[in-house]
Amino acid sequence: PLILGIETSCDETGIGIVRGRTLLSNTIASSMDEHARYGGVVPEVAARAHLEALEPTIHAALAESGVALADIDAVAVTSGPGLAGALMVGVGAAKALAVSLDRPLYAVNHLVGHIAADILDADSPPIEYPTVALLVSGGHTSLLLVRDLTSDVVLLGETVDDAAGEAFDKVARLLGLPYPGGPEIDRAAVTGDPEAIRFPRGLSRPGDMAAHRYDFSFSGLKTAVARWIEQREAAGEPIPVADVAASFREAVVDVLVTKALAACRDHGVPRLLLGGGVIANRRLRDVALERAAAEGVTVRIPPLSLCTDNGAMIAALAAELVMSGRPPSTLEFGADSTLPVTEIQVAEAVA
Ligand code: ATP
Ligand code: MG
Ligand code: FE
Repeated sequence: PLILGIETSCDETGIGIVRGRTLLSNTIASSMDEHARYGGVVPEVAARAHLEALEPTIHAALAESGVALADIDAVAVTSGPGLAGALMVGVGAAKALAVSLDRPLYAVNHLVGHIAADILDADSPPIEYPTVALLVSGGHTSLLLVRDLTSDVVLLGETVDDAAGEAFDKVARLLGLPYPGGPEIDRAAVTGDPEAIRFPRGLSRPGDMAAHRYDFSFSGLKTAVARWIEQREAAGEPIPVADVAASFREAVVDVLVTKALAACRDHGVPRLLLGGGVIANRRLRDVALERAAAEGVTVRIPPLSLCTDNGAMIAALAAELVMSGRPPSTLEFGADSTLPVTEIQVAEAVA
């Protein structure tokens, strides 16, 4: 099926077009620059930017893929989670498009979409189930057991405080690096020593590994970085930005990979799927591949351009739903800013 996907949950207006598991176009307009001077996403600014960007971005995606609007078989949209106002713009546009084209509409979960980005990796065979999935984004850090991406996602654990991406953004700010912090820290860390400073690994002590085996905590790490910087400043010493960035990144990556591989071992599942904006992190990709290989676990990583928010992953998830014979969504849905990851599709029509 030929699917057009619309993503507006945060600050990226993403339009993606897929045919089955083949990516035809992935067009993104970002309002990131407008938010950068505030040090974070301003919801009202994001919603207005989506409104302005949607139509030109849809046209750009169609042009890039050489597809005519009339050829689209179904429309897909993110209904949550995300910023309510931003989501509403995409949901409204998707409904209008589906109704005017007289095509089915699939309202899907943004987080499952991040995992579905893996489907579009042209160099890998189809995803095998069950698989453990590590979802690491700006608002979420979760470990999932995916038995079927279209119908059966189990939440094993998640962050008890900050998301990993949020920690990257906050630590970047402490280091005087611009927003968004993830790519900046990645860059700064290249020349740093990851073992220069031993920052804490949240919820990783033996007792925590019993009670919070699949949960994460990053606020203690962020505070530890802040304290370390304060002490250096109080002593009048310069801040070794590269070493702090590399050591912080190492602490985040270490916990993420350790817990993901523990989940693979515990469930007897030698497959790990990575998804979410933080998966763009070079060190995370390298360490996950290296340590998984040592344990006989195969890792799937989405193409870099599909890690952060995009419409192609939303279209890919809807294509899976269509191919597995699932009915579309009714028009009775809205934006759900707190949609749980276990709700893969919303407002599914009764078959
Ligand atoms: P969610 O998906 O939970 O709703 P989101 O959509 O805002 O949140 P994404 O777009 O998936 O999040 O990811 C954005 C996050 O990824 C930001 O926090 C950003 O700093 C982080 N990020 C992007 N590139 C990198 C990188 N190279 N290293 C680390 N973090 C990164
Ligand atoms: Mg974003
Ligand atoms: Fe996201």
